[in-house]
Amino acid sequence: MTSFNSIAELIQEARESACSVSQVVIHWEMENNQLSEGRQREIMLKNWHVMEEALERGMKNTEKSLSGLTGGDALKLYAYRQHGYTGEAVLSTAASAMGVSEVNAVMGRIVACPTAGSCGIVPAALYAAAMQRGSRTEEIVDALFTAAGIGMVVEANASIAGAYGGCQAECGTAAGMAAAALVQLAGGSPEMIGNAVALAMKNLLGLACDPVAGLVEVPCVKRNGFIAVHAMLAADMAMAGVKSVIPADEVIDAMDRIGRAMPSSIKETAEGGLAATKTGRELAKKLFR
Ligand code: SF4
Repeated sequence: MTSFNSIAELIQEARESACSVSQVVIHWEMENNQLSEGRQREIMLKNWHVMEEALERGMKNTEKSLSGLTGGDALKLYAYRQHGYTGEAVLSTAASAMGVSEVNAVMGRIVACPTAGSCGIVPAALYAAAMQRGSRTEEIVDALFTAAGIGMVVEANASIAGAYGGCQAECGTAAGMAAAALVQLAGGSPEMIGNAVALAMKNLLGLACDPVAGLVEVPCVKRNGFIAVHAMLAADMAMAGVKSVIPADEVIDAMDRIGRAMPSSIKETAEGGLAATKTGRELAKKLFR
C-alpha cells in the first residue's frame, strides 16, 4: 500500500492483510519514509516516555502559568477523585489530561497529539486504559500508531488546526485518535476502531476555538479533561457494538465543511466565543496592559 486517504481504506487494508490498523500504519511508514519497523517503534516509545513524564509532572503541578489563568486544577481534581459522582477512573483520567495541558501552559515538554492545545487527551485516555488492562509497553506503542493513523487521515481530509477548523479540529481529532487507540489496545476490530473515531468526533462537531486572551489555557486545559473522558466513552460504545450511523470519513468531511463555514472569530483569533465575554475581555486587557 502506498497511501491511505480514508478510515475506510485503513480498515479495508487491515482486513485484507489480516493485520491490525497499527500494522497498516507501520507498513505505510516503512514504504513512504523508509523507516524500519524497529526504528519507528523506538521513536514512538520515546514519544510515550515523554507523555508519561508530562502525565507525572502534571499530576503534581502547583505551578501557575505566566498569565496566572491556569495551574493546580489537575492536582485538585486528582485529590478529589474518590469522592465524585463519576467515579475514580473518570476523575483520574480527566485530572491527568488537565495535568498534561497545564504542563503545556507552563512551557513544559509535551507531545503534540495532534496539537499542543489538545496534548492531554491521548496520553490521559491511553494511560488510564493501559493501567486498567495491565497493557504491555508494545501494546501501548501499537495503540499510538493507530492514533497516528487516524490523525494522518484527518489531516489529509480536513485539518487538525484550531485556526483552520475550530477546536473540533484539534480536540475533536484528539478524541478520535484516543478512542481509536483504546479500541486497538483492547483488541477491538478495525470496524470498531472506525466506529469509535466517528462516535468521538461527531459529538464534538462545531466546537469553537475561542481561547481567552489568545492563550492556550482557557478553556483548553479543562476541555482536555472533559474530552479525554469523552474519548473513553466512545471507545466503550464502539466495543459494546454500538455503531455510528454516519461513517467516520463522512464525519471528517462534515467537520471540514463546518470548519470552513465557521467565522474567523472562533478560529483561534480570540475575537469571539469565550474570549469575547465580559470576563474574557477584561482578562485579556489586564494581561496585555
Ligand atoms: S480552544 Fe483553540 S487553542 Fe484551545 S485547545 Fe481548542 S483549538 Fe486549541
